Formats: sequence, structure tokens, C-alpha cells
Amino acid sequence: MKKFTKILSTVVAAALMAVTFTACGDSSSTSDGKKGSIKFGTNAEFPPFEFVASKGVIGEFDGIDMAIAKQIAEDNDKEAKIENMEFDSLLVALDNGKIDAAIAGMTVTDERKEKVDFSETYYNAKQVMIVKESSDIAKASDMADKKIVVIQGYTGETCVKKLGYAYQSFKKGTEAIMELVNGKCDVVVIDSATADKYVKDNEGLKIVEDNTEFENEEYAIAVKKGNKELLDQINKTIKKMKDDGKISELSAKYADVTDTDSSSESK
Ligand code: GLN
Repeated sequence: MKKFTKILSTVVAAALMAVTFTACGDSSSTSDGKKGSIKFGTNAEFPPFEFVASKGVIGEFDGIDMAIAKQIAEDNDKEAKIENMEFDSLLVALDNGKIDAAIAGMTVTDERKEKVDFSETYYNAKQVMIVKESSDIAKASDMADKKIVVIQGYTGETCVKKLGYAYQSFKKGTEAIMELVNGKCDVVVIDSATADKYVKDNEGLKIVEDNTEFENEEYAIAVKKGNKELLDQINKTIKKMKDDGKISELSAKYADVTDTDSSSESK
């Protein structure tokens, strides 16, 4: 009798478990009732586009790109999830399905276009040089015999490589800036809006532009090649946010926010 009860309870438990698992498998809704999620990959080291803050628009992630990602998800009744990784890993992560889209102030380049599909562009940028206020660097060719620092895998690295100058690369923009602040290098080549932020946040630095040497760049969101459904959804939101001035508004807002003080708390 005792044995029978034990068997019975095991059967009941197994049946209950099966029901529970079926319920989980069938449900694609998230806890707040949304229909699934979009996994965005980024490298949250690139203010004002993405950075970690005490209170960001998506969890601890804040910035122009994060606000765009949130809007794309919302427009499709989905939840935006962020996978923070090295910039260099983003295209691989798209390819192996770890993320659905990469949003990371990513410049559209022919080389990247061979690997992924890009959305409509949403931001114009260019490479600039950050130097100490006292520096005599006034154009790109003045960097020839200087200690140049770039960030690994960024278009800034491609530009310096093309010029044929020796350089050192760092994984993070903040590390590159510290080298400059501490006098260990003479110049950092990086995207314009991010350079503006670093110069605002660190004393004694200035920006030098060379518009003949550095071409215009455009940022877009990348998806896995052939993922037309998601690309269409992304493009719809980008177009809307460009047309109604939302992206310009975000650019202005985040130009003033620093890494540690989040938009909502201090403004
Ligand atoms: N725009 C640059 C690039 O695409 C840098 C992007 C980034 O660091 N997030 O390489």
C-alpha cells in the first residue's frame, strides 16, 4: 500500500511537471505581457550613444542608441534586451544568433556590409583627433611622428591604418583617453560625438578636425544577413524617429548627460 501511494504521488508529480512545462513552452509573453523580446547587442563604452548609468532607459544601459532600441521594441510590442559585449564581437554574435540586432554607433562600411545587413542610417559622424590643449597637431598628417591611440575595431583604427601611421589600440575609449590625459600618448582618433563627450568630461583636452582626411560616416543598426522582417521593423521606427525630430532631440539631450549622472535623476 505504501509503495502504491509512493508510485501514485510520483505519477501525479510527473503529470503536474508536464503541465507546467507545456505552459512555459506555449507562452511567448514576457512578464509584463509583451510578445517576446528583441535582443540588442551593444558595447556600452561609447557615450553619448551607449553607456552604463545608475538608471538607464533599458536597465542600467543609457544613451541615444538605447532609447532607439527601446522604441523599436515598443513599436513591435516587444521587450528590449541588451547584451553588452566588446565592439569587435558584435558581428560574430549576430551571425551565431546570440543577438538579433547590433546597435552601437556602428558606421556602415563596405567591409561590414559583406557580413551583415544595415538599417537606414540615423546619425552622421566623422573621425576627429583628441589632443592636449597645448598640442601642435592641426591636421591628420601632423600625427605622422606622434604617439597615436585608437580603439580596437573602430573605424578610427581603419583610418589611421590607411594613413600608414604606427598606433597603439585599446579596448575601451576611457582607457585611450586616460593615456592621453596622463601624457602617455599624443592623440586619440575617435568618432566626433564621443570625442565631444570626452573633452567635456576631462579638462585640458581639445578636438582637432581634418575634414579632407576623414570622410563622413553614417551610423546604422545591423541585423543578420537576410533578416528582412526585423530590418523592416527597425527601419519603420528609425524613419519615424527621424521624421518627428526624436533622434535630434535625443542627441541634444544626451550630449549633456555624463556617464555617472543619469538623465532622469539629475535633470
Ligand atoms: N563608429 C565607430 C565604428 O563603427 C565606433 C563605434 C563604436 O565604438 N561603438 O567603428
